[in-house]
Amino acid sequence: MRRKLFAANWKMNLGPAQARELIRAVRAQLDPQSGSLLKDREVMIAPPAILIPAVQQELAGASIALGAQNMYFEEQGAFTGEISAAMLKAYGVTHVILGHSERRHIFGEDDVLINKKVKAALRHELTPVLCVGETLAQRDGGETTRILTTQLLAGLGELDAAQVSKVVIAYEPVWAIGTGKNATPDQAQREHGALRGTLVERAGRDVAHSVRILYGGSVTAENVDSLMSKPDIDGALVGGASLKADSFVRIVRALTV
Ligand code: PEP
Repeated sequence: MRRKLFAANWKMNLGPAQARELIRAVRAQLDPQSGSLLKDREVMIAPPAILIPAVQQELAGASIALGAQNMYFEEQGAFTGEISAAMLKAYGVTHVILGHSERRHIFGEDDVLINKKVKAALRHELTPVLCVGETLAQRDGGETTRILTTQLLAGLGELDAAQVSKVVIAYEPVWAIGTGKNATPDQAQREHGALRGTLVERAGRDVAHSVRILYGGSVTAENVDSLMSKPDIDGALVGGASLKADSFVRIVRALTV
């Protein structure tokens, strides 16, 4: 039984006061239910790096994990503007989103760099949330499977099966991110099933069936139930709809209301 994971990616949004207010509003709704609701699911919130200390304070005592949106793979040194795994750990971060399409396409991150980051995260016992996804042109060109397989295998690199079991995968079709145009549940299930098939070949059946594969791309309170009803969709990575307490909490409650 895979525990579902509902992860908020706030991207480059909110200031410290708004961040605190949003966490309080989410907690006001989720804390009373955490005993029952969070039995079969986990919640993670990834604020902008500079807001991590404030969010850590607001999350004290909550059953909500703290995530980062990115990190660098080196331990320390002359890497202006970067943040290491150890720095994140010092502020209670447990998860890190890696290879998000905005990192790939706006900041030019490639699979080699992303794999170094995945390895560094695991070295520091952070859970990497490895994002993969095709662009619209790649989908239209019939390249979806090749792109997803390449990004998945390159992102995992030389990890052994035990390490692969600690990675969370997020399927995020680039054309669905922030566009209001989500993949249909059937489309998403097809790609999630194919990704799991690749994991079976790469790391064996047991590991492949234990790895969570999240869907991301215009997930909303309205479409989350139909997406989460698919057998290989193990949670969601949520951008826009995570910036409002009501919609994020409704997403976390998928299939229970
Ligand atoms: C994301 O940021 O990973 C994302 C999926 O964004 P949105 O939900 O806004 O499409």
